Amino acid sequence: MQAGISWGLSPVRQLIQDQGMTAFWSKTSYCSCWGKVDGVEQNTNSPDPHCKICSSGYIYTEPKKQFPVVFTDLHEAVQWTEEGINPTGNITLIIPDKDVLGNTIDMYLDVGLQDLIVSMDIQLQDIEILNSSSPLLRRIPAQLISVSWNGITYVVGNEVTTHLNSLIWQTQRKPPDGSLISVSYLYYPLYTVLTSLPIAINYGGLSFPRTILLAERAPITQADIKVFGDLL
Ligand SMILES: [Zn+2]
Repeated sequence: MQAGISWGLSPVRQLIQDQGMTAFWSKTSYCSCWGKVDGVEQNTNSPDPHCKICSSGYIYTEPKKQFPVVFTDLHEAVQWTEEGINPTGNITLIIPDKDVLGNTIDMYLDVGLQDLIVSMDIQLQDIEILNSSSPLLRRIPAQLISVSWNGITYVVGNEVTTHLNSLIWQTQRKPPDGSLISVSYLYYPLYTVLTSLPIAINYGGLSFPRTILLAERAPITQADIKVFGDLL
């Protein structure tokens, strides 16, 4: 480092460590079935619809260990047309280059397009009108707030609970299959990595925190539940 110049990186790392949230990260790989149909090369621009290995062309690792990160809001109406359009704007995630002990963080080096990120420190609230015979809510539920049908408000935690993204009924008053019920709940938002904003990773012998652009993934898929369900 040149004399007299200090980038003050240690305080930044310390800040992320102290004030950041904990992210779980699942690495995504492309499956070998892209371009094939029933295992035969067809030059399509999509995954094999009958692939037995992947989910929609992607294979996810088990969530890696926790990392301290900083989520920030990017207040911009970016119109991403692929997965995970987020009406409130996309989110940025700042990953430190090193932990407070000076060890390079795996996620800093490895995070890539389509990877999945979830933080158990973030909870959002939503209301869903759900078909009662449908076993799944559309997001990863953290906590049921209220469930009602036909003038009945159920006792949450007693008459109805959740397991992963399924409602579990324990009441004689259960609505008939196919009824439309109103469910209010807190959920953990799940994000897809859209891109990593460019930075010089080795400027003057220094590396810097990395900024990742995320889009909320809604609705989530069965594969997402499979990856993150064990954490919940
Ligand atoms: Zn596949």
